[in-house]
Amino acid sequence: MIGRHRKKRPEPAPVLSVVLASAFAGAVALAPLDGGSGEAGGPSEPARAVAGHSVQKSDQPSERPSGRAEQRSARPANDPPSEPPAECDPSDAGSKHPNGRIPQDDLCPLPQRGESLRADAAAAFYKLNVAYHKRFGEQMCVRSSYRSYEKQRQLYQRMPAGMAARPGNSKHGNGIAVDLCGGVQNGGSPQFKWLEANSKKYGWIHPAWAYSSPYEPWHWEYRG
Ligand SMILES: [Zn+2]
Repeated sequence: MIGRHRKKRPEPAPVLSVVLASAFAGAVALAPLDGGSGEAGGPSEPARAVAGHSVQKSDQPSERPSGRAEQRSARPANDPPSEPPAECDPSDAGSKHPNGRIPQDDLCPLPQRGESLRADAAAAFYKLNVAYHKRFGEQMCVRSSYRSYEKQRQLYQRMPAGMAARPGNSKHGNGIAVDLCGGVQNGGSPQFKWLEANSKKYGWIHPAWAYSSPYEPWHWEYRG
């Protein structure tokens, strides 16, 4: 019996090392799924963008067809849409749904495939996206937008303490936050600085906490 127990003991170690290895391999494979008030993040931007896609794909395959790259390369010169689909009604976007419980029908798809927000935040995002496209020749890169309660719960369990918002507390669960990539995740980038200077015109801000605690240059919120 004792021998058997001893044999079993070492097993957790490889599991842990796999978890750690995957966390480091992608410069924080978990970064794309950060929280909202205290979120996850990683220092290395190109790695994170790559890791983001792979993580999100494995997390939510049905929501993420392989289209983002295609979409980007297929229409680089075209202007992105300036309005959300007609069925999105910003006036219907009150906070009638609890955090993380917004039905899909009440969410509004973004031009970035697989991403969605509350209708008023989405409508503002479309405008911001057009302005960003004018400046940089490409649409904003969105790594995460609305997150369900369940997704936030999984994230919270997976992330180190303080790095993901408690389920029910993330602005992502209200459908009014995005995590951006494409350069924005680097606070010194032209993309970040441009957003910092221009996003307010469109009702989007980089919240004060995200400058330092924790530092999340990629996290932006709609304040209307
Ligand atoms: Zn975020």
